[in-house]
Amino acid sequence: MSGGQSRSAMMNVRDWKGHDMTDADGNVGDASRRLIVLTGPTAVGKGTVEARLREDHPQVWVSVSATTRAPRPGEVDGVNYWFLTEKEFLEREREGLFLETAVVHGLAHYGTPLQPVLEHLRSGVPTILEIDLQGARRVKESSAQLGLEVVYVFLAPPSFDDLATRLRKRGTETESERLRRLETAKVELAAESEFDVTIVNDDVSHAADELWAVIAKEYELPRQN
Ligand code: 5GP
Repeated sequence: MSGGQSRSAMMNVRDWKGHDMTDADGNVGDASRRLIVLTGPTAVGKGTVEARLREDHPQVWVSVSATTRAPRPGEVDGVNYWFLTEKEFLEREREGLFLETAVVHGLAHYGTPLQPVLEHLRSGVPTILEIDLQGARRVKESSAQLGLEVVYVFLAPPSFDDLATRLRKRGTETESERLRRLETAKVELAAESEFDVTIVNDDVSHAADELWAVIAKEYELPRQN
């Protein structure tokens, strides 16, 4: 394990059913396979880049987050998100079932269920979290304790104006919600230097290819796959 200290001495990691997730060495996950954390401001196109990546490389697994926000039209429980009530979410959070959680845009809780992430990493499946900046920072805090190695990838827009245009065109938010998201986006853009890699989403295929290059390197997979 990185850091040379047993994680189980510091944290009790259990799965959704309460089983201990640690192996004989007190580790969780497979430290030789790095988890990919993808972060980027609202409307930068994370979902589109991921969809293209999975089309080209179906072996990649993207974690399904839990959220307390309402489903958008067409979103399916267990596919886009696990849609939970606030009570359900907070109970699971208390039980330590999330790798990280955050309140995003000051509105809803979001969190990454820990167990599926560990299971996919242990099976050697390329694993991606698509989470916000606060979540990425929480993963940074907890990954050492969990014995997880992580690559932090920042998906950036070509410019702030481009981002504002994309958000307006998407049209899924009210005016006040759109402005709130743009404020969050400013803070997120300023944090780019905290990440290991920046990918500029000037073109979806190009960005998906660059993301694949990061994954292929980490998982020792052929660049052309
Ligand atoms: P949306 O509501 O538009 O689907 O997502 C809003 C924001 O929440 C996005 O920036 C997305 O990256 C972030 N998000 C989605 N799932 C998670 C999660 O599990 N944890 C954290 N911290 N952020 C998340």
